[in-house]
Amino acid sequence: MKEYQSFIGGQWVGSQSGKTFESINPATGEINGIVAEGDEKDVDLAVKAARKAFESGPWSSMAPSDRGRLLYKVAQKLWENLDYLAETESNDNGLTINETKMIAIPAAIDVLEFYAGMANKIQGDTLASPSNRFNFTLREPIGVIGAIVPWNFPIMLTMWKLAPALAAGNTIVIKPAEQTPISILELARLMQEAGIPDGVINVVNGRGSSAGAALSSHSDVDKIAFTGSTATGKLIMRAASNNLRPVSLELGGKSPNIVFEDADIEEAVNGSLFGIYFAQGQVCAAGSRLFVQKSIYDNFIDRFVSKVESIRVGNPLDPSTQMGPQVSEQQLNVIERYVQIGQDEGAKLVTGGRRNQSLGGGFFYTPTVFTDVSNDMTIAKEEIFGPVVSIIPFTDEEDALSKANNTIYGLASGVWTNDLSRSLRMARGLNAGTVYVNTYSMLDSTAPFGGNKQSGFGRELGIEALNMYTKTKHVWVDLSKEKLNWYGF
Ligand code: NAP
Ligand code: MG
Repeated sequence: MKEYQSFIGGQWVGSQSGKTFESINPATGEINGIVAEGDEKDVDLAVKAARKAFESGPWSSMAPSDRGRLLYKVAQKLWENLDYLAETESNDNGLTINETKMIAIPAAIDVLEFYAGMANKIQGDTLASPSNRFNFTLREPIGVIGAIVPWNFPIMLTMWKLAPALAAGNTIVIKPAEQTPISILELARLMQEAGIPDGVINVVNGRGSSAGAALSSHSDVDKIAFTGSTATGKLIMRAASNNLRPVSLELGGKSPNIVFEDADIEEAVNGSLFGIYFAQGQVCAAGSRLFVQKSIYDNFIDRFVSKVESIRVGNPLDPSTQMGPQVSEQQLNVIERYVQIGQDEGAKLVTGGRRNQSLGGGFFYTPTVFTDVSNDMTIAKEEIFGPVVSIIPFTDEEDALSKANNTIYGLASGVWTNDLSRSLRMARGLNAGTVYVNTYSMLDSTAPFGGNKQSGFGRELGIEALNMYTKTKHVWVDLSKEKLNWYGF
């Protein structure tokens, strides 16, 4: 059985308490590895290591071009280990090998390359000063970043924080989700091998309620970057408020995906399938409320459901598998509970709605479709985070917009139409951080991603994310020959 320790100050160390926990492979229900279980003591050591690395260099004082060059070297190392990282991530969280190897890991490395290129483009401004003074701004690293990440895309969502943080010269302490403790440790190991100095990246596994809480309330952490559920986001913000630390929150969603009658129906069906079933529905931006215009409602559902029923669920490491297991037994229970509520509240369960027992001890569920859902039902309001779509009819643009925006969330949204003006009216009207037109769930390193309302705040990715990992310093230099003498001394 493989054992994993915490990664602190460039060293592999056991937990201070000596405690460990088992990491489960969701495809088999078997133990994947034994992992050191950190708590506040381990987090404190990691924060100290990150602080030391930040204050004493060489990372934060390195020439920005050299930092960028080193990050490119790391990216190269990750490309060389793509297969290994993809398999490790699949074993950790059950994503299919196609999802990790073709999407999640390449996307993560692309993010690293994007910010490697940004390292020497982080710059302040010369301000419009009068001739008797000189004013300029510096963009400085914030310091020690505390990153708390979920289990659905551990490496990718870590990289969204790690890459801009490192490019700007910060150091970081990462707390992975307890369901997926391994892949981020392997990422850190490869990054160290590629030359990232000791203490710049630290990883401490452990429970959210102990290690996570300790990191978010630590007085020597300068900023908290969190991705996870809305409920935990509120706890994090409260914890960070004790020290008035800035937080960025990427939280849950119940994103509307809207199909108009003038859309290419075949494309809309295929795109909406990806929108909900990609990563077993465990996607924060999942198009889990699928709005279909009444005039095409029955036709759309027939075509959609027949494709859902042919999705191949199975071993995530088999490249022909289209859907793997859910991440955990606990998550399966959540899904089952929502499916029951959906039926109790009168939605029509058209397909799925049960565990897949034919696949051994893994946490497999069948892709599920509810129709005749109304916007006020629980399954249209609450995030299920599983392969369950709620299909809701609508009449026209106005109806679609008012239903789509009637949610506590505002992460992503989709519109399928061949009418250009309509697509742009909808793009303006949807209250969400991202609007997809004639596609869904796409990501790009250059494009800011984040939510409105209870989906959080702050934007990751793109140039904009660098604002979350730098602080602005203004320098005022007096050039005048007559110096300030207000009191006339
Ligand atoms: P979660 O339960 O909120 O956990 C996220 C992370 O927070 C985990 O590392 C967890 O640790 C930690 N945590 C839990 N309680 C904590 C506390 N009191 N203080 C500090 N940290 C704590 O979310 P999840 O179930 O892993 O992930 C699913 C959720 O993430 C969904 O709601 C989804 O929408 C959201 N998500 C959002 C985005 C986005 O970009 N907006 C992306 C992906 C996922 P443990 O797991 O070890 O307890
Ligand atoms: Mg696991």
